Amino acid sequence: TKWVYGFGGGSAEGDASMKNLLGGKGANLAEMASLGLPVPPGFTITTDVCSEFYANDRKYPEGLKAQVSEALSKVGKTVGMDFGDKSKPLLVSVRSGARASMPGMMDTVLNLGLTDETVDGLAKLSGDARFAYDSYRRFIQMYSDVVLELDHHAFEELLETYKEGRDYFLDTEMTADDWVKVIAGYKKIVEEQLGRPFPQDPEEQLWGAIDAVFGSWRNDRANTYRRLHHIPESWGTAVNVQAMVFGNMGETSATGVAFTRDPSTGDNHYYGEFLINAQGEDVVAGIRTPQTLTKRAREAQGEDEPSMEEAMPDAYGELVKVFEKLENHYRDMQDIEFTIQDKKLWMLQTRNGKRTAKAALKIAVDMCKEGLIKENEAVCRVDPHSLDQLLHPSLDPDAPRDQVLTGLPASPGAASGEVVFNSDEAERLAQEGKAVILVRVETSPEDIHGMHAAKGIVTARGGMTSHAAVVARGMGRPCVCGAGDLKIDKSETFFTVAGRKVQKGDTVTIDGAEGRVYAGAVPTVQPELSGDFAELMTWADKARRMRVRANAETPHDAQVARDFGAEGIGLCRTEHMFFEADRIIAVREMILAESKKGREEALAKILPMQRSDFEKLFRVMTGLPVTIRLLDPPLHEFLPHSDEEIEEVAKSSSMDAQLLKDRAHKLKEFNPMLGHRGCRLGVSYPEIYEMQVRAIMEAACAIKKETGEDVTPEIMVPLVAKREELALLKVRIDEIALSVLKENNLKLDYLIGTMIELPRAALTADFIAEEAEFFSFGTNDLTQTTFGLSRDDSASFLPDYMRQGVFERDPFVTLDREGVGALVKIAVEKGRKTRPDIKLGICGEHGGDPDSIRFVEDAGLDYVSCSPYRTPIARLAAAQSKL
Ligand code: PEP
Ligand code: MG
Repeated sequence: TKWVYGFGGGSAEGDASMKNLLGGKGANLAEMASLGLPVPPGFTITTDVCSEFYANDRKYPEGLKAQVSEALSKVGKTVGMDFGDKSKPLLVSVRSGARASMPGMMDTVLNLGLTDETVDGLAKLSGDARFAYDSYRRFIQMYSDVVLELDHHAFEELLETYKEGRDYFLDTEMTADDWVKVIAGYKKIVEEQLGRPFPQDPEEQLWGAIDAVFGSWRNDRANTYRRLHHIPESWGTAVNVQAMVFGNMGETSATGVAFTRDPSTGDNHYYGEFLINAQGEDVVAGIRTPQTLTKRAREAQGEDEPSMEEAMPDAYGELVKVFEKLENHYRDMQDIEFTIQDKKLWMLQTRNGKRTAKAALKIAVDMCKEGLIKENEAVCRVDPHSLDQLLHPSLDPDAPRDQVLTGLPASPGAASGEVVFNSDEAERLAQEGKAVILVRVETSPEDIHGMHAAKGIVTARGGMTSHAAVVARGMGRPCVCGAGDLKIDKSETFFTVAGRKVQKGDTVTIDGAEGRVYAGAVPTVQPELSGDFAELMTWADKARRMRVRANAETPHDAQVARDFGAEGIGLCRTEHMFFEADRIIAVREMILAESKKGREEALAKILPMQRSDFEKLFRVMTGLPVTIRLLDPPLHEFLPHSDEEIEEVAKSSSMDAQLLKDRAHKLKEFNPMLGHRGCRLGVSYPEIYEMQVRAIMEAACAIKKETGEDVTPEIMVPLVAKREELALLKVRIDEIALSVLKENNLKLDYLIGTMIELPRAALTADFIAEEAEFFSFGTNDLTQTTFGLSRDDSASFLPDYMRQGVFERDPFVTLDREGVGALVKIAVEKGRKTRPDIKLGICGEHGGDPDSIRFVEDAGLDYVSCSPYRTPIARLAAAQSKL
């Protein structure tokens, strides 16, 4: 087996496509070497060796040692040196390099091969004793830390004391003699701590370093990083051994990092930092402040120290040529590490650079216009998740902040306002023109007006699909939910977090993208929907197959959705319309009515309001489909709570208050999520749905008359488990719809369909499709009922599941393909078997999640429906899943 791949001297055994075997760094070093770029020669020990190492109790596979020693002597030949040779010692760096970049998580050793003997050779060869001894002390320090795992403080202390004793301030003031003395001190520390001297055999040094790098694949830092970034343990790391080049060889040497474009703005300018007479770790350690790369940046930042462009114009010119070559070759922005050794440029690394959302958009669009990439490639270059950063105001990154609280990042955006604890007060203060932040234990549909009035919402309980989270995302309100440490005092005049008290009326700022709450008003910056953003979206629209709709019930939300490119409404939750102050009393009257007659009287009051709701919605969405879901509340959420509320209903309905109270009590359920909700309500009280269907159809007729354009309402029945439920309701829906059309003397198409949000519905979709003209997957409830996992209560224990790897992702955020996804596939297949042209969509929160969108593209759905503010994310994700 080939375990070792060499590179350098204008050729390489590997290339950029071999990232799995050689790791990102190794593959790109090989690629750069083949491109003829100045790469110090070296070799990569493959990730397969890492797997063997762990599979065989940290033993190496047979043949590895021989391959390493052959590769090493080849490297020596290329540079005219020899590993361990006294007069011409080859020195190497040993670095990790996994398939995905894991910056700073694993170990690195530089200057390896230096010993008491070879250091003199290096001194003579370079004609610079100071440089040689500086390198040797660096090596002892690093090797002792990384490989021998000795306490590094002792080394730092010794150096500090030495410098103080001589009144030195900078390391550069140290002479060769000084370093010789420090080295003697270092070696003593090693011997004391280790019980044996610092290894003087280069071969032993090398294998010690290789062991350490492979070993670091499973250190705590790396384990945590992998978990956070979903990087499988099984990938392993490669090890890169490479001839050293020295940035610490005096004033004509330097080391630096650079990006070929600005990673925060995307501007087409080189961007970077460098340090003269230094090695890479000096930049990281922050001992000296690096200088700018370009004159332009130096001037912009008002720096005095010369830029690299000015201080080392020749090397800079070389570097610019390399930038151009690399960008043209990789066709993406590159993040580069380089070293200048005595005026000569050497490349140590290149990779696709990390960037902000804004930079990603600009770079993708620019590169397309420059002819480097095609439109479809540009579309794939931007992470849909990252667009969230651009669609909401965000905190000014430079502003100081004082954190009070953390919770789940439920809905992005930033907002400041006074703390209030109830929705009526939030609404009142908002009407007075105040900015408020609504803080609740949890929210229910009754809080809609307060949430709407508030600039942001914070809850102590509830997960990413809790009511607060869903509604806040829908409204585009920033929201932090499930903040477990938040304790709201019973008096509702203050809350505490770990002893810290925040009063009603105090100003706080919430950052919904990070899930944090800060004291005071932190300044924000407004979203900038730049031309690049719009342009990339038109390319995405050309590439996608699926339609993108929005979940919206208010004309405002619908307008936002339309502005963001929604192609219709996929879910109008009518229960959200029932909490407006002008109708909640009538709604309560309807629910508490003792008889059909009482209910009908209450419904008659609601009808004109519903009709006007739908008219407004149809008007915003002219020419586009609108799916309206018939009432689906857990009934208890509508019940009056206080005596005052009961009194209001009593007055309006001329029913006895005590009777109302008893009735409200009877309607309380133990398990409302599985209780009298969804179509079950329509089965018990058909007149509710009849009123809604009448309102929908009358509104559609009115808008058709008004605009001359067709409106095609899609009437959706929620929480169907059996075909018979839908069959029963459909008869009545048709009856009402046809009679409204007849009254208006109009012809108008409408569809009747259902949510698929219960496992039984998915499994019997072939029967249900006999009745349903469309399915919309309600994956919130489908996830809840498939797992038997409460949407509203699971936030408290899901973190345990995530931490211990039972769930890799929150199933309420990213669709569970194996379980819930299997049900979706069954329903798609069975539904289409019965009704080949059945319309299929998804309207659960997953409809706005890029990974879930990829799944439903593969499953063949016709559209996704998501929160208005996620529309652009869904458009981009739909395009990417098609490409
Ligand atoms: C669902 O269950 O996925 C859904 C969209 O309905 P709701 O969230 O209103 O229950
Ligand atoms: Mg549902």
